[in-house]
Amino acid sequence: MCSTEYIIEDGWVFNRDGKPLECKVCKCWEFYEYRGYERHPITLEGKKKLPVKGYQCKNCRKTVVQRFDFIGKSKQYAKDVQRVTLSGSIDDMNSTRHVSYRTCRDYDCHPSAATVRYWTNQFGDMAEVIFRTEVVPYMPGLCKKGTIHLDEIYTKRRGKTPSFTVAMTHIGYLCLGGHFSDTATADDVAAVLDKLDWMLLDPARFITDGSDIYPALLRERYPHAEHISCFFHKLRTISRWEKKLEKTKNRFERMKILRGIITRCKDLLHQIWDTPNGRATNNRIERFFKPIRRLFHQIVSFFSVDCANNFLDLVLFHWNFHKFERGQYKGKSPVEVLGFDTKGQDWLYFLGIPEDFD
Ligand SMILES: [Zn+2]
Repeated sequence: MCSTEYIIEDGWVFNRDGKPLECKVCKCWEFYEYRGYERHPITLEGKKKLPVKGYQCKNCRKTVVQRFDFIGKSKQYAKDVQRVTLSGSIDDMNSTRHVSYRTCRDYDCHPSAATVRYWTNQFGDMAEVIFRTEVVPYMPGLCKKGTIHLDEIYTKRRGKTPSFTVAMTHIGYLCLGGHFSDTATADDVAAVLDKLDWMLLDPARFITDGSDIYPALLRERYPHAEHISCFFHKLRTISRWEKKLEKTKNRFERMKILRGIITRCKDLLHQIWDTPNGRATNNRIERFFKPIRRLFHQIVSFFSVDCANNFLDLVLFHWNFHKFERGQYKGKSPVEVLGFDTKGQDWLYFLGIPEDFD
């Protein structure tokens, strides 16, 4: 469970039992205790009866009621329900309706799909703010002159191509931000770049898939940064041209294609030998977002693009704190790779992460 020593709310500091430590107004530490009212929070074990004590300052007569760390002020659902539900939707990439159904099946509580959506909005918002204010400024290793991958991930639904655009650091695979919309345009890239600006990052290099929504914008906003196309995407283009060459019979056509292949191969070799990170690919980004794509495919469960964006913020936050199971960063999370200390960060618990955190 949560390991907070104190509960801080509305400027008051309460101990573990929910008793105020000193008066907010006059700093007196003596209180009269009286019987307050009854609350009915919903936890994973169902609805509970909870008597609430009231306290009155002996000096200035200011009153305050008891607080509990497992449930927010004037909230009906306990934090463990929110935690289990949101973690469920992130881990399994399921619709809000299904998550609501499953919480109801496995536990003695049943938040509706609308409630789950409400939590998604609330916690997604919180995740983004926390990431910007509590995490990024405390990551010494978040290189100001680093390499950033930009990629857009498409999904198809009823003839439309909803997509999300994301930014990820080259070192540590830290997700810096994402944006969801009905189809990826330069506006989405601008929204993601706004997030980088907010974090005061000054990237030295961008790696994209070579899509034409990037070059103009990157040149305009980061005139000093290099812009490299993903090594793998370039290679794939070459192999496509080779296939075309096999099918073509006309000699002049063949010459034209061959010349194209040679130019591209030269270009690729220059990139490999002359540019740092020239061999970098966007493959990891694509692999990571494949399961999320399935979820955004059924975007109808969000009702709005805003809610989808909030959910994306939650997913990215979750990713940034999850621990790698293998590879060069095994046992570490992306934020830890970049120097952020997760110990003593109790607020992490309320966003449902990470499981092995105490
Ligand atoms: Zn007082």
